[in-house]
Amino acid sequence: MSNDEHETAPTPETSDRRITLGELTSCTDGKLVVAECMDTQVPRHIEDVANGLKCKCICPGCRRRMVAHQGERRRHFQHAADGPDCSTAGESALHRFAKDVLAKTLRLRLPELKAHHGDESLPVVAEQEFIFDSAVLEQRTGDIIPDVVCHKGGRSLHVEFKVTHACGPEKIDKLRAMDIGAIEIDLSGYRDVPLDDLDQAILAEAPRAWLHNPRQAGVKARLKENERTKLASEDRRVETLLNGLKTIPQKQIGEFEQLAVSAGLADLLAADNESVGFLVNGREWRAFVLMHFAIRGTEFLHQSVFEGMKARRWIADGFAYVSKADAAAMQRVADRAILPPWQSLWEFLSRLETSGFLNGTSERGGYVAGGKLRRRTDVWRRELEKPQRRTDELRTLFDGIVARIRTASLKDGLTFEEWFGTDVGHGIVPSETIGNDDAFLDISSRLAALLQGMSGFPARADEPLGFPVIKDLEIRREARREVEARREVERATRARNDADERENRLRAAASGEMAADAVWAWMEKPQARLNDLCPAEAARKSDSSYQGALYALERWAANQSREVEAANRRLDLIEKLRREARAAFRNSEHAELWVRSSTPKLGGKRPEDHCVDEATFKECSAILTDIMRRRRW
Ligand SMILES: [Zn+2]
Repeated sequence: MSNDEHETAPTPETSDRRITLGELTSCTDGKLVVAECMDTQVPRHIEDVANGLKCKCICPGCRRRMVAHQGERRRHFQHAADGPDCSTAGESALHRFAKDVLAKTLRLRLPELKAHHGDESLPVVAEQEFIFDSAVLEQRTGDIIPDVVCHKGGRSLHVEFKVTHACGPEKIDKLRAMDIGAIEIDLSGYRDVPLDDLDQAILAEAPRAWLHNPRQAGVKARLKENERTKLASEDRRVETLLNGLKTIPQKQIGEFEQLAVSAGLADLLAADNESVGFLVNGREWRAFVLMHFAIRGTEFLHQSVFEGMKARRWIADGFAYVSKADAAAMQRVADRAILPPWQSLWEFLSRLETSGFLNGTSERGGYVAGGKLRRRTDVWRRELEKPQRRTDELRTLFDGIVARIRTASLKDGLTFEEWFGTDVGHGIVPSETIGNDDAFLDISSRLAALLQGMSGFPARADEPLGFPVIKDLEIRREARREVEARREVERATRARNDADERENRLRAAASGEMAADAVWAWMEKPQARLNDLCPAEAARKSDSSYQGALYALERWAANQSREVEAANRRLDLIEKLRREARAAFRNSEHAELWVRSSTPKLGGKRPEDHCVDEATFKECSAILTDIMRRRRW
């Protein structure tokens, strides 16, 4: 085509306007901003052509003549004549453009392709640069838009483009049905890029993926074959394992099952799935999970339970670790749902968790008793905790009693553990009472009594119950006796000193009243008034009897002066009598003789003896008067 043919165009061919990918592919109701020059097949912008039919453009889709509208409001190409709807013009224009780019360079970057089956994958195509012989537009059956197809030898590769929409499933199905290799290049990120700059995006840079590759099926088949081989070998291995299993007697009831039944958990022991690989019946290991781990109320791990089972030799050889694949192989071989130990346990724990008997606690398979399980086993758990609680109670009593033993040396080597296991009297062994309500009550009340006895004053121990309390109390009594004896000696010394002092005081007082030899005699002579004690003894005896002795001394002194007075008075009276006798007899010798001679008138007594007071003086004096009267006569 020569430039002459474009003379009528108002704008030169060499316009600065650069058509972008977005403009090329924009198409609204068959109204385009870019059409194709009917002579050069070059995309032309609406602003770069002559108005009306003079634009000399055709629709890139249906290839009908276009008319350029360059009015104030409408500035776009439109099909010149009415015809069928044309919505693929943009896409056709892009394919046309891309074909030209590919035909020019004859090379294209291909993405990597891998075939997948299950967890396995194999490469189908490595990422590479594809060098081909030609790039053409080919019409597919029933398709208006021609595909861009690269040919190399007998092979061909379809290239699809994504600008606004990805390749639809129908088209991919078609490509697959025809078993044609196809890739899709994603140009959605290049809409604002001018067509002139799009080459590298198409050839290498833009993201791309395989829609179909004829070799893919073969690789996939190989993967499937590999899997079949693998499965077959797994099946053989697993079959050997399963055949080696011994049958477990299901009737036998184990210790944990018994516990679980008595704890009211029998209904939880049934299984949903058949387990395989255990050397213990299913009810027993499930009971083990419940009674050994779950009802304790502390967190436990799936792993720990499994280790517990292994330690009990409950897992058959070869079943301690069964991979997912082997577990699946077991189901294939057995042709029914069977679970190896690890998975069985998992299934059982999950079931308990789902039903609220367990709560999951951690990612790595931790569990703790759920509210439902706790409520149901409350009574049982208390029963289970009883031994520990009772042991603790006895330990507290033990500690209390030991604390009240004062002799430190007696406590050497006295430990709860040893005491707990020995006969503490009456054939009672504390540890043996733990499981028996009556026996426990008996020993604990005996201990409480001992504790109380040892806490009282004075401390008392009715029965020692294995404690060195009797010896302790003996040592304490002995110590007390020594103290008392010492006090007694002190008291006696003090009493003796007091007695000496009182005796001395009394002796001093007596010395003031009488002559020294009389004091001695008085002090040592028992007196009826002093309860037949002598004053010395009375003074020693006590303060009050000392007072009595002092009083006796005073009385003695008083009495002593009265006797002296009486004697003096008697001597005076006798002297007076002598004078009267001398007056009566007028002869002193006769008078004296009378005074000293006994007379019948005084009952044979002598006057000097008879005259002791006024009365007896008058009797004697009356006799003298008589004698004088007779003399006068
Ligand atoms: Zn058209």
